Amino acid sequence: MKFCDKCGNLMLVEKRRKHSFFVCRKCGRTAKIKDEKVTITEAIHEPRRGIVIMGRDEGIAEFPKTKIICPKCENAEAYWWMQQTRAADEPPTLFYKCTRCGYAWRSYG
Ligand SMILES: [Zn+2]
Ligand SMILES: [Zn+2]
Repeated sequence: MKFCDKCGNLMLVEKRRKHSFFVCRKCGRTAKIKDEKVTITEAIHEPRRGIVIMGRDEGIAEFPKTKIICPKCENAEAYWWMQQTRAADEPPTLFYKCTRCGYAWRSYG
């Protein structure tokens, strides 16, 4: 929690490009977030695409791509990654995310 040092209002966390700032919704004053441990309480919603993987699409560029048909838009390329979903002794699940429409699905194989 941070309060505006100009007008005293509660400041909210706002994301601008890659950085987050505190922003006063009343007077518009911004402040840098110095504490790395600050909790961003604004919920990050992905439209109901089935699986929510991550909040920011920029991050997905780090994932490798593979040739696979998207079940939603039939695009032939998707990002993929492995994720441990349940017990540690089970094999990790393979996930895909369409490079075109952003639809994400898991491999049942
Ligand atoms: Zn203010
Ligand atoms: Zn697609």
